[in-house]
Amino acid sequence: MRARDPLHITNDQLDVWGRMSLKPLDLDPARCLIGGQWQAPVTGETLPLMNPSDGTNLCEIARGGAADIDFAVQSAETALGRDWGRATAAERGRVLARIGHLVLENAEHLAMLEALDVGKPLKQARADVAALARYMEFYAGAADKLHGTTIPYLDGYTVYTLREPHGVTGHIVPWNYPMQIIGRSVGAALAMGNAAVLKPAEEACLTALAFGELARRAGLPDGALNIVPGLGAEAGAALTAHLGVRHVSFTGSVGVGRLVQASAAQNVVPVTLELGGKSPQVVFDDADLGVALPFLVNAGIQNAGQTCSASSRILVQRARYDEVVALMAARYATLVAGPAMDDLDVGPLVSGRQKDIVESFIANGSDLHVASTGRIADNAPNGGAYVAPVLFADVPPDHALARDEIFGPVQVIIPFDDEDHAVAIANGTDYGLVASVWTKDGARQMRMAKKLRAGQVFLNNYGAGGGVELPFGGTGLSGHGREKGFEALYGFSVLKTVAALHG
Ligand code: NAD
Repeated sequence: MRARDPLHITNDQLDVWGRMSLKPLDLDPARCLIGGQWQAPVTGETLPLMNPSDGTNLCEIARGGAADIDFAVQSAETALGRDWGRATAAERGRVLARIGHLVLENAEHLAMLEALDVGKPLKQARADVAALARYMEFYAGAADKLHGTTIPYLDGYTVYTLREPHGVTGHIVPWNYPMQIIGRSVGAALAMGNAAVLKPAEEACLTALAFGELARRAGLPDGALNIVPGLGAEAGAALTAHLGVRHVSFTGSVGVGRLVQASAAQNVVPVTLELGGKSPQVVFDDADLGVALPFLVNAGIQNAGQTCSASSRILVQRARYDEVVALMAARYATLVAGPAMDDLDVGPLVSGRQKDIVESFIANGSDLHVASTGRIADNAPNGGAYVAPVLFADVPPDHALARDEIFGPVQVIIPFDDEDHAVAIANGTDYGLVASVWTKDGARQMRMAKKLRAGQVFLNNYGAGGGVELPFGGTGLSGHGREKGFEALYGFSVLKTVAALHG
């Protein structure tokens, strides 16, 4: 082991890295990235970071606070007044492309970090790395392609619009998909010429720090991206309240989303809220179940169900209901939850707290029909936050398990009679993030796509977490604003109208 391994990883973990000939980035997770420098937080305080696979302490991270946020915002403002603010759109794109290359060059290292930190199985962490690289590639290419318009107006005038950056943008991300969410929000913000202050989640922030280091190495000017780990109520709240922050992008829970919006409202600053969901997949009697089955189950158990766009409700037309229950139950019986590095179907939940929440939901379903369960691997350490996947059937649509976001490996199956009934159940929660429809009837596909209340509708597939090109976001309690795809660039820019009277 090196004299001062910044990640304080265990010998076993080092062994894994060694065997795979990985060269860990020289990161000190107890520091913040401010103005291009890795700095200890002003208070010098740290927070423990847990390994969800075994409950041990992975390392200490910085406990950033209001003073660090203030320095970070000042550094971002400075960057906007210097190199970053002067960079052309093409130059910004080139830097993002270089970050994307470095992400791919360090892919295995990043995947290891994410798996260790979040507890997600390695292959899922690898998919997240690939998505992060794609976000960088996509926004690299998009940076110089958002144009203003000219507007026909009165005689003697020329009128046109300009797309300009907000200035300093705040990014608060959760622990479930750190790399993907950083990619879509920070990537789009930088492409538009904003500077960014990122507050990663206290439960998982290692890949955020690694991303910051890669961005530095790629030549992103100092201060264009600043990263301040810490608690939500401290660093997070300070970021949303800071007068220098001109746009806030928040991904997380509904409760905190309300606080963030209220805080930003004090400064009259726009907010993008990406909150939770209770996303349905609607299976009609003419569905191709052979194609549907993997989507029905995977969209519920990916990342142990800790996915905002998880499909936690499966609605099935009565003629095929028993068949779908039997197929899903058989698949559930094969599911095994185990350590992230064992790369099974399901990893641990991110924390003991999350495990308690999910277990209380499962207990709340004690009156329901359990169609099937998976199991916890025999070698899963006792200290890990494991929950065996559970499939409930015949769940009344108004039951808490069918209405509330569980954020664990739990799905409910609900029967329906016809199209109207399906729409009523599907739209019957306070959320509206993602939905899918399984049917071969083209006219029904079109009708359902229009009637479902969701930011994304998939027809004969389910795209949880995928598609960096596809605009994403919710309605209702799922939030507002759109990230991902080209659409995100509109949110991360301000439209200015210029009207010239020249006679
Ligand atoms: P959370 O809201 O507790 O935390 C999210 C982030 O907000 C963290 O970085 C946290 O430190 C910060 N935070 C907490 N309190 C804050 C405050 N007062 N001010 C500012 N920031 C604060 O959510 P979580 O438990 O980490 O994540 C799970 C939730 O996030 C689920 O509800 C899930 O659906 C949602 N989520 C949504 C999406 C999406 O894209 N729609 C993606 C991932 C997660």
